[in-house]
Formats: sequence, C-alpha cells, structure tokens
Amino acid sequence: MGLIVQKFGGTSVGTPERIRAVARRIVETRRRGNGVVVVVSAMGKTTDQLIALSREVTDSPPEREYDMLLATGEQVSSALTAMAVHALGEPVVSLTGAQVGILTDGVHTKAKIMNVNRERMDKELEDGNILIVCGFQGINDTGDITTLGRGGSDTTAVALAAALQADVCEIYTDVDGVYTTDPRIVPEARKLPLISYDEMLELAQLGAKVLQPRSVEYGKLHDVVIHVRSSFNDEPGTIVKEVSDMERDFVVTGVASDKKVSKLAILDVPDRPGIAHRLFSALAEAHVGLDMIVQSVPAEERNHVMFTVAEDEVGKAITVLERVKKELGAGGITCEAKVAKVSIVGAGIAHNASIAARMFGALAEKGINIKIISTSEIKISCLIDRDQADQAIKAIHDAFELGGGNS
Ligand code: ASP
Ligand code: MG
Repeated sequence: MGLIVQKFGGTSVGTPERIRAVARRIVETRRRGNGVVVVVSAMGKTTDQLIALSREVTDSPPEREYDMLLATGEQVSSALTAMAVHALGEPVVSLTGAQVGILTDGVHTKAKIMNVNRERMDKELEDGNILIVCGFQGINDTGDITTLGRGGSDTTAVALAAALQADVCEIYTDVDGVYTTDPRIVPEARKLPLISYDEMLELAQLGAKVLQPRSVEYGKLHDVVIHVRSSFNDEPGTIVKEVSDMERDFVVTGVASDKKVSKLAILDVPDRPGIAHRLFSALAEAHVGLDMIVQSVPAEERNHVMFTVAEDEVGKAITVLERVKKELGAGGITCEAKVAKVSIVGAGIAHNASIAARMFGALAEKGINIKIISTSEIKISCLIDRDQADQAIKAIHDAFELGGGNS
C-alpha cells in the first residue's frame, strides 16, 4: 500500500460543492489502496478577509494574536472536508497543525518548521483513518499557534510527506502545472512535465506563484517528489524532483518576470573600502530586501551603486539612502519606480555563452533597453522598463523556442 499526501489550495476548497469534489478525489485515492494524508488551505479568500478584519480592529495587531486569528481559516476547511469524506463512508479525522505534530520556531507570521512528530499520524493511519490536516500552521515550543507565511500550506504538505516518507506529495491547485512562462502573457506557453528543485525555486522566487518557495527548499532537502496538478481535471501536471542531465530536453526551462520592482541608485560615492558595507548594513537594519546589486566601473575615484527593491519597499529604502547619503559623501540618489525584471532559468545556463547572447538578441530586436544584467549558475536576469515587460517575455520565449509546437 502506498502513502500519498495531497494538498488542496484555497480555490480547490472554495465552496461546499468544491469541497465535496475534493472529498471524492480523496476517497478515490483511498479506494485504490493508498494511505491518504490531506492538507487543506483556507477556503477561497478567507485568509485575506481575516487579515482585513484584524486591520479594522487595530493597525498593529500583536503577532501572536494575528496567528491565532489566521489559523482559524484552515480549521474551517479541514473540518468541512472531513465531514464531506465522512459522508462518502470513509473513516476520517481532521487535525490541527499542533495535533499533527508540526513544531515550529517562535517567529510568528512566518515560522519555520523545525520538526514533525509523526506519532499521532502513525496511530491514525494504523487505525485506518484518512487524515485531513490544517495547512499553514504549527505550534512553537511554548505551545502557541504559529503560521508559516502566505502560501504556507504547500510547506505543510511537503513537510508531512517528508516525515512520513510518502511516495509523492500532490499539490492540487487551480492551474494545470508549471509552465514555461505565464500563459496569460504568452498563450503558446507549454506545461513542463518535469522541473528540478533548483529551477522551480528560482521560478517561485521570481514570481511564479504555484508553490511557496520554502516548500521547494524543504522538498529538495528531504528528497520529496512534488506533483503540481489541477484539482479540476485528471491530467498529469508537473513533477518537481532532482533531474539528471539525461532527463533534460531544454537548456532554458522557463521565462519569469517580476513587475513589482524598482531601481535605486546612489551616485558618486567615494571609491574606497567600507562604503558598500556601510550602505548595505543600513539597508539591512531597516529590513529592506534587495536584488541585482551592481557597482559601476570607478571614474575619478567615484562609483555609482545600483540595486533593485520590491516596489512596496521603495519608500523605506529611500528614507535609508537619504539618511546615509551625507555620511557616505554621495552625490545623489535616483529612483526608477516602474521597472521589471525578466529572467531565464535553466540548469545549463552558466556553461553556455550563447544563451546570454540569444536572450540579449531577443531584447535588442524589439528595441528594449537593458538597465541591469545579473547572472547566477542557473539564471540570467535583465532589468527593463515595466511597459516593455510583456513584449520582452514573448520575445525571449520565442527566441528559445519554448512554445507548445516545438517540444
Ligand atoms: N491560507 C494561507 C494563505 O492564504 C495559506 C495557504 O493558502 O497556503 O496564505
Ligand atoms: Mg497557495
């Protein structure tokens, strides 16, 4: 008998009818002879509504109480799903994060799973029960409820699959799988049958919303095979696992974009040791998240330093730059608020010079100017005007022949 972990996202359990459909799928899996552990998200937009509700009471809810509130969403969906499974005649029990043994650190609102104690799960499975577990939540070592950050139910599912050494962790969602790029921007985008953890992690961090990045890290660490698939049909989706070179068809796996970035520059800072350290320490103290840091070639013993930040952190970052400008002896600060980052991701990129040439060629042909380039082992990112982002994605996707007709 196999053991399968299935996770259903908010849309998949968004209404009573959908919950009943999910229950049928769970029961089918069970009747094929598998042990089944299910993780559910809160119904539809429940978590957003709970956040809005807290804001109506106070601007600054204590984080412990915030977690206490947000965790209720998953308690509703897990109990209802268990009722629907029960109605189909299978033995079932719903369990909270604490009951199922998910121990986290104490960082409320974005806690990390430290350990999964499988005792209760083993007992329930031995008794023949299907388990319906509240995603997104755990308990810290003082016994308080914590939550795992938005989208955290994915990580709950992968963590349970790891602890139970399940055969597969199926993530049921409202899309068919992971695509070469966003099909809403490029209709020819192709569903990927297979993607490696590292590539998936890049895509997730670059804005592909199908999986919480931490769930992919967790999967990689514990070798959990993740199957991302639609809860609305029976088509196979995308398998995320360690991929060998033999299994790879394409050097470039996908094209991603992040349209919510802004570019900041601090101009004419002295070219001497300690300047970058002071600048970025000040940004770090203010918890500003950065990417694409570039320092210009020095001219007359002066440099420009540029970097990107998430659009909603621009205000915070500028406040820091204004404060340190004088201390650093900088000439000025500039901000381009409306830029976008387009990236190609693929395991072979770093070892293949023609890939970069092809990407830049696609942009050049459309007359798109590149403001910053950054590369890593498995990705090349270009910062461009936000207005041109969709056009850029189409051009790059075409240039690498990633569309449906070419596979
Ligand atoms: N309900 C939580 C959220 O909306 C967790 C999840 O859906 O994975 O972020
Ligand atoms: Mg989700």
